[in-house]
Amino acid sequence: MTDRFQNYRELQGANLEGIDYRIETAIRSRNHESIGQSALERAKSIIILGVHAGGIEPGTSELARSIAGEDFSLYLFEGITGNNKVLHITSTHFDEPRCTELVKNHHSSVSLHGFIESPSDPCVYVGGKDIGLKQQILSNLMNNGFSTEINTGKYAATAAGNICNRTSSGQGVQIEIAKGLRTQFFEDYSSRRGRENTTASFESFVKAIRNTLLNDSLGRQDHYR
Ligand SMILES: [Zn+2]
Repeated sequence: MTDRFQNYRELQGANLEGIDYRIETAIRSRNHESIGQSALERAKSIIILGVHAGGIEPGTSELARSIAGEDFSLYLFEGITGNNKVLHITSTHFDEPRCTELVKNHHSSVSLHGFIESPSDPCVYVGGKDIGLKQQILSNLMNNGFSTEINTGKYAATAAGNICNRTSSGQGVQIEIAKGLRTQFFEDYSSRRGRENTTASFESFVKAIRNTLLNDSLGRQDHYR
């Protein structure tokens, strides 16, 4: 299915912020690159993204907020109408200015998405140009029992223009989560209220990624010492 809107300007011309969609940002200061920042601080600079959040790809808002916690910066573009599908701008075209500005001020990113799987698909596909972080996320998810593969096709996310790679390093990670798994994360996947009640599987998924990111920050700090 092709997108109704090819960029944010087009979407903005036909939809109202606060009515049709909302944007949520959180800058965790130690995670934000700025002039004079030390190598150690730069190493911890990661932003969690949900550019198809809210009702567009359900479950990604809840996952992104929980993975970010109080440690990592956050950007969400959430669909809040009944007709969320039209608010999908593909990752290589996603150019909402607050997002691009934030992303370029972080060293790496983790961009969360939802897909509707075919029978041969695993639960999770990881992609993106941050090869080291991608491998660590893959093994941590697999160690926690999530069927995960690195995708080399449709979800490879290796284009420089993919929002996950528009960081200061030109690298990031994209995580595509099957609907079959997202439905297991919540007591009731189908409504925002229902998604307030998360399951043990949700906690395990969030923890696997958070631990990877926290360890990765430590590893990079060692590297810079
Ligand atoms: Zn998506």
